[in-house]
Amino acid sequence: MMMVVMHKGASVAEIGNVIREVEARGFKARPSHGAGQTVIGVMGAVEALSLEGLPALPGVEEITPITRSFKLVNREFQPESTVVRVNGIEVGGREVVVMAGPCSVESREIQFSAARAVGDAGARIMRGGAYKPRSSPYSFMGLGEEGLKILQEAKRETGLAVVTEVMSAELVPLVARYADILQIGARNMQNYNLLEAVGRSRTPVLLKRGLMSTVEELLLSAEYILSNGNHQVILCERGIRTFEKATRNTLDISAIPVIKQCSHLPVIVDPSHATGNPAYIPAVAKAAVAAGADGLIIEVHPDPERALCDGDQSMLPADFARLMDELRPVATAVGRTMAPSFSA
Ligand code: PEP
Ligand code: MN
Repeated sequence: MMMVVMHKGASVAEIGNVIREVEARGFKARPSHGAGQTVIGVMGAVEALSLEGLPALPGVEEITPITRSFKLVNREFQPESTVVRVNGIEVGGREVVVMAGPCSVESREIQFSAARAVGDAGARIMRGGAYKPRSSPYSFMGLGEEGLKILQEAKRETGLAVVTEVMSAELVPLVARYADILQIGARNMQNYNLLEAVGRSRTPVLLKRGLMSTVEELLLSAEYILSNGNHQVILCERGIRTFEKATRNTLDISAIPVIKQCSHLPVIVDPSHATGNPAYIPAVAKAAVAAGADGLIIEVHPDPERALCDGDQSMLPADFARLMDELRPVATAVGRTMAPSFSA
C-alpha cells in the first residue's frame, strides 16, 4: 500500500481528483481525513511506477509507501487516534470506559442484578456472552438468542450499552441486532471469515488478542475488519500464554504502549481473563489504566460460586465498586476521566 499525502490546504476538488486518478489506474482509494490533512491510501500491490504522474497533481504533497504489514490500522496512515462511538459513549477519547458484567448471560435476574450494580459503580457498558466459546464441549454454551433478548431488556432497564460475543460469520446479522459492540473472542482472532463478516457490519467491534498471538498478528486481524469497511474497532489485550502458571494468562502490559505507538485504534485491557483471579484484578486494572489503556472489561457476578462460566475469576459487585473508586484517581493522574459512581 502507498500513501498519497495531500497538502494541508488541499481542496475537496483536488482530493476528489486524486481519488479518481487512483481508481482509474485500477486501485482502491481509501481517504483518511485527519485534522487539517488528508491521506489517501492506495490499496493493493502498488509499485511506484503505477502511480507515475500522481505527484504532479495539484494538492499532492508526497507519495510514500507504508512499509509495515498493517496499513489502515497504522498510525502512519492516520495520525489521529480513532474514537469509537457507542451509544453516546466515546472509547478512545479522554474517558476511560469500563465494561463489566458476567462472563455469560445466565438469566434475566442475574443479568439485571449485575447490570444495575456495575452501572451504579460507573461502568458504561455491560458484558455477557450469549454464545460462549468453551474449551470443553460439555460446558455451558450460552443461551443464544434468548440471551441476546435478556441483554436488550437489561439495556432498556439500565441504559448501559451491550458488548457480546459473536462466534460465527452467519450469526453476525442476528447478534448485531442486539449488540452495541460485537466481541470477537481470543479463540477467533484469526477466524478470517468472521473478521470479514464483522468488517461488513457497521456495528463497532471489540477484537481480543489471541491466546498465542503477537501484537502484529492482532493488528493484521484488525486490518481485515477495517479493509472490509468497518473502522470502529477496539483492540483488547487479555493476556497471552506463557510458561507461568500462577495466573491464567500473562498480561502483556507493554502491548498498550506498543499498540498506541503504531496504531490509531483504541486499546482496552481484560484483567479478568488475564489473571483468572479476582484477587489480582485490582492491581492489574490500575496498572492498565496507568499504562494508557482506553478502557477495561471486567467480569462481575452477583453470586460467583454459582456462575455457569468463569465464576472463579468473577468479582463481587461490592469489590468491583471499590475498584472503580480506586481507579478514578489513577485515571486522573494520567490525564483521563472516568464516569462517576451513582451509588449512595
Ligand atoms: C470472554 O470474554 O468471556 C472470553 C471468552 O474471553 P477470551 O475470548 O478473551 O478468552
Ligand atoms: Mn469469561
